[in-house]
Formats: sequence, structure tokens, C-alpha cells
Amino acid sequence: MDIRIGHGYDVHALAEGLRLVLCGVEVPHTKGCVAHSDGDVAIHAICDALLGALALGDIGKLFPDSDPKYKGIDSTKLLKEVVNVVRDNGFDISNMDCTIAMQRPKLRPYIDTMRERLAEVLGIAADRVSVKATTTERLGFEGREEGASATAVVLLIKA
Ligand code: MG
Repeated sequence: MDIRIGHGYDVHALAEGLRLVLCGVEVPHTKGCVAHSDGDVAIHAICDALLGALALGDIGKLFPDSDPKYKGIDSTKLLKEVVNVVRDNGFDISNMDCTIAMQRPKLRPYIDTMRERLAEVLGIAADRVSVKATTTERLGFEGREEGASATAVVLLIKA
């Protein structure tokens, strides 16, 4: 059996007055991620995990932020393209687990909606999609609410 594991990590600065979009879901908050795209830090980590599993580089290689066509883009579209790359390489996604680190807001009320949204884009059942959120106990840039980070791991199985 050919199985591959992939890991992804992403960070974005937070700024007042921007939309906060995580796992394809808009979360009401006073701050959002500064980015060329919609700044969905969780989806960016998931894209990197999927690409990493197949040693295909990272999201910046596939979708350069110098390219105006990705300005403000909905990151679920980027994820969909990455999922297609995975399929084209003959792999199925077994499961995905990600963790978002930010001090505020509380993400728990949005977690199940995020899992369902991601399951739809990944083309797998929601019970194979895990989204977790943590604060960093006010430590570091996440704790100071200067930024948000996300990590993700995926397991791929040769179809
Ligand atoms: Mg990013």
C-alpha cells in the first residue's frame, strides 16, 4: 500500500477592518488576515499539507502572490485546484486534521460548519475532517493578536 503523509504550516498578520475567513467560513470579528488572497490561513496550511505529501512544493509555487489573478481569491478555489492535483497524481485523501492558533475570537461555534465546508471541497466525509482551535495562552504573536497561524496534516492513499 502506498500511503503518504503531508504537513502544512501558515501564518498571516491580522489587521483591523478586514474579513476573517477560516476554512472557507466567514467568522465575525474586528480583525482579519492580511493577504493577497482572502487570507484563509487554515486552508493555506491544508493546501501545503496536500502538496507536501506528494513533494510537489507549496501553495506559493502553484499560485504565486505576484499573480494578480489570485488577488482576493476565495481560498476554497485554491484548495479545490490542489485536490485536483492530488487526484491527477492518483491519490485519494484519507483524512485531514488541522489546528488554528489565535487568541480571539472563540472559534468553537464555527467548527462544525468549517468541517462540513472543508469536507465538501476535499470530497471526503466530514468524519474524516478535523478542525481544532487553540489560543496560545496570550503568548507569542497569536497571543498578542498580531497574527494567526495554522498547521495541518493529511494522509493520502494511492487510489
Ligand atoms: Mg497564506
